[in-house]
This record gives sequence, structure tokens and C-alpha cells, in this order.
Amino acid sequence: MSSEAKTPILRSCIKLPLANDELLEVIAKAKDYAIMHGAAMRSKISYSADSLNFAPFVLVPSSFPRKEFEKAVALQPIINRLMHNVAHDEEFITTTLAETIKVDEFTANLFNIYRKVLANGFTQRISLGMLRSDLMLESDCPELSPVLERPAAATVAANDAAMSDDVGAVEQQLDAKLNLANVRKCNKELNGSVGASTASSAYCCWKQVEINTIASGFGHLGPASKTIQSFVLTELGHAEKIKRMPKNNALAGLCDGMVKAWDIYAKPQAVILFIIEDVSYNICDQRFHEFYIRENYPHIKVLRRTLTDVHRDGKLGQRKELLLGTTEVAVIYFRAGYEPGHYHSQNEWDARYLMECSLAIKCPSIHYHLAGTKKVQQALAQPAVLERFINDPEEIKAVGKIFTGLYSLDDNEAGNASYEMALRTPEKFVLKPQREGGGNNVYGVDIPNALKRMTRVERSAWILMDLIHPPLSQGYMVRPGGDMPPQIVDMVSELGIFGVVIGDADNILHNYQAGHMLRTKLSTANEGGVAAGLGALDSPYLIDNEDEAGYY
Ligand code: ADP
Ligand code: MG
Repeated sequence: MSSEAKTPILRSCIKLPLANDELLEVIAKAKDYAIMHGAAMRSKISYSADSLNFAPFVLVPSSFPRKEFEKAVALQPIINRLMHNVAHDEEFITTTLAETIKVDEFTANLFNIYRKVLANGFTQRISLGMLRSDLMLESDCPELSPVLERPAAATVAANDAAMSDDVGAVEQQLDAKLNLANVRKCNKELNGSVGASTASSAYCCWKQVEINTIASGFGHLGPASKTIQSFVLTELGHAEKIKRMPKNNALAGLCDGMVKAWDIYAKPQAVILFIIEDVSYNICDQRFHEFYIRENYPHIKVLRRTLTDVHRDGKLGQRKELLLGTTEVAVIYFRAGYEPGHYHSQNEWDARYLMECSLAIKCPSIHYHLAGTKKVQQALAQPAVLERFINDPEEIKAVGKIFTGLYSLDDNEAGNASYEMALRTPEKFVLKPQREGGGNNVYGVDIPNALKRMTRVERSAWILMDLIHPPLSQGYMVRPGGDMPPQIVDMVSELGIFGVVIGDADNILHNYQAGHMLRTKLSTANEGGVAAGLGALDSPYLIDNEDEAGYY
């Protein structure tokens, strides 16, 4: 993804560049602080189960419009309910994935488990959803285009002066409870006259990148990022800025969700099982979930097992309870199982099926996993589909606005038209397969060749999505083995909002927003997975209008 000259730049929260001496000193401290507070990972280059590297991080938090942040937070329970309803709509899932499973073996394997479970009836009707809705600010937002024709600096200054009265109104809004009223208000503003729009809405639009229903990571690293950056701001003499970093209880929110499911299962001796990869690089993020549960709920034990382990040791008891040896499992939390490489043989698929047939409460259950596929996301973004899952027209409108263009590539008239469109203007799109975990998408000019290599039928394993154009931020990215001192680089951010939803087909028992995480990558990188080595930990610094961020 190239950063075009006209891409707007969000100001940094402190004046940059820093003097070299100060920079070197604060980075050396921050690296140690990160390792010593668990903002760390195992090295992929020189792996050792006995050591950790700090996770890459952005030195100071990146500016993010407060109004957009609050909108995302307020919307999460609605998204939770949407995904819960989608997961329980057998007809929708079956129809939506019908073409995809003909050509995508991995999705077909998941779907086969779903089909078998449907035929036999669900042993456990309750599902635990721990979702993460990922989004990026869209600087090219159609609702805002007049604002985004960046005025010359003098005009910005004049506008800002004229705008000063708005700050009070914005402050009031900050204090307002995060509820749907805020979403409605924001939408009204968006629908209102753009010409009359204020500088505070300069980036007032975000679009969903994807929704994760399996292995939604960073429940620990999200809050840990805030810890490091708060430390750095204090070291640099800017402690007063910390109050603009929103509180982040992601770890507690997610772990409490698992414990609520454990309570529902109601067997004091039963454990929570984490399904893990053979090698866990992102170990801190996983272990801190486990440690949080141990510290706050000392009576609950967490076990970590691979799919291969479950195949070897797992069986169903008389009530179809999942037993590992003699240990009963109440809740299964999948941190693996979302990509083909996690299933080495039929054994791992058998283990997944065994767990799905069991009485344990799964995060995710198979229908939740399928509801999180890119194909389902694409189907949800089509006109009038949301009505099937959401009753309130205001909510439908609010959710509808977060989708950017998502197009089917199925072998039919609409799919073939999307195909032609992608060949004509590939630079506008991302091509996505039904995969999770990063590194699978095809971007821009690479799309035509990728599409031409596929048969018409094979295309239905993929979806096409409008490229989102986030504003840039500029700052220091600190990486293990990176240049010291680092250079100031152009970056873009992706915000993830966590949500927890627990219920069955008829009732939702718990539904709440559960914190956030911000990942930031070089603006030139297509993808920004932190574990994959391209992204860096970050956290939002909330601004009410462009001027308030402080400095360029
Ligand atoms: P995965 O399930 O592999 O994480 P994503 O859909 O989240 O797949 O895509 C991976 C990354 O690619 C995202 O984190 C983001 O950086 C980038 N990306 C995905 N979709 C878009 C888009 N529409 N516009 C811009 N960047 C995107
Ligand atoms: Mg993703």
C-alpha cells in the first residue's frame, strides 16, 4: 500500500523529533519496561522457550478521533448481537457458504463438522463469543469528502479559531454515557450538512476491516501497550497527556467472559482448556489470560493443549462431557484451529469434531467460527441483509455505515461483474480468501494475476473488498534488532474493539464491549500483524479536533 501525497496526517501527541540523547535513553528504558511488563513475544528468528523479546511498539500513542473511538465502543454490543444471530441462522450460513465450500477445502472441513453437529443436535446450546471487530479510519470517506480536501494551513488556522466554541460541546459529549444515543448522534452529524462540518470531524469515518470470531488476540497486549506508552510519556515529561488514553480493561473483560461461561457450566472441578499451536510465539498474550484467571479466580484451572494432544487424550464421557484423561473440560478457548496448518492430519480434525460434539462451552463453537468467515462478512454488507438480524432501524443504519464495499466473486452475474471491476481498477481493492491470521490477502496491482490464475469456480473461495485509506501518523517504531535511534516513519493504525457475548439460539445472557487494541504498521506495508513482524503495539490518544493532537 503506498502512501499517496494527499493522504492526511494525524498530528503526533508530542513534538517530534526528539533529541538523539533523549530518544536513545527513553527507548532503552522503554524496551526493558516492555519486557518486564510482559509486552513481549518469543523470537521467531532465534526461538527459545526460555526467553522473550519485547514486542515491537510505537514510542508514543497515535492520535485517534475521540468521537470515532466512542462510536466504535458503543456499537460493539450491537455487533456482538448481530454475530450471535448470524451464527444461529442455519439457512443464512448454509446459503452464504454454499459456493465457497465447493472450492475451499478448509472451509468445507469446518462446514462438514457443522453439518454433522446439526444432524445430531447440539450437545451444548450455549456459545461463548469473544469477538474483535477490526477497523481503520477512512480518510477518503464519501460522507466527508469536502472536509478532506485539505485546506491550506492558513485556512486550517482560521477554521480552528472559528471552531473553538465547539470544544465545549465536544467535552459534554465525552462525558456522555457510551450508549446508542451517541451512535445516533454521530450518525445524524454524518448525515447532516458536510459543508457545515467542523474540523473535529475531519476523519469522522471508519470502516470495518474484518470481524474475528476465533482467537481474537491482544487482550493482554492491548492494555500492555497503554502501560508502556504511559511510562514513556511520563519519562518525557508529558504525564498530563495520559488522561487522553482511554482505559482499557480488555484482559479482564475477556477472561471474565470465560469465567461466566465456566459458571454456566457449573462443575467446580472442570477446567478451562486453551487450544494452542504447536509453538506459541505470542506467548505473553495467551499466558496473561491464564494468569489473570488464576489470580482472580484461584479455584479455576487452565490447561493448554494442542489439537494433536486432544486427539490423543480426549474422549467423551457418559453425559458427552469432554474428558482429558479424567479431567472434565467446562470451557474451550481456541487460540489455534483457524488455519489449515494447525490441522496436521485427520487426527486434528477428529479432535475438533470431538470437542464440537461435547458438552463443553466453546469459544468459538463451529457456527460462530463460520459466522466469522470473510464470505459471511461480505454477505452481511449487501443491501437489506442486516434487516434479517437486527430489528432497530437506527441500529441497522449505524452498522450499515461501517461496511466498505465488499463484493462476491461467485460464478454468477454479480460475481463476474466484480471480477471485471477488479481487473479494470485493481488499485482500489484487496482480494481476500477464507483465512485468518494475516499474510493471505492479495493487494492492488497483484490482484489481476492472482485472479487470472483461478478458474471461475475457484474465485468463489475469495471476496473482493474496497481498500481503506487510513490517515498517516508519524513517529518512532521500536523493534527488536531495529536501528538505534530509529527514524521517524509514516504509519497507519488499525483499531480492534473486543466484545463478549454468551447465549444460545433463543437468549443472550451476557453482551458487553470488552476493551480495545491498536496495532500500527508502516504505511508502506500491506499488513500489520505484530506476531507476523510487520506491526507494532500502540494505543489511541484521543483527540477532539485536529488541532488538539498538539504537534506535527
Ligand atoms: P486476517 O484475517 O488475515 O487478519 P484481514 O482481513 O484482517 O485478514 O487483513 C489483514 C490485514 O490486511 C489487516 O490487518 C489490514 O492491515 C489489511 N487490510 C485488510 N483489509 C483491508 C482493506 N480493506 N483496506 C486496507 N487494508 C486492509
Ligand atoms: Mg485481521
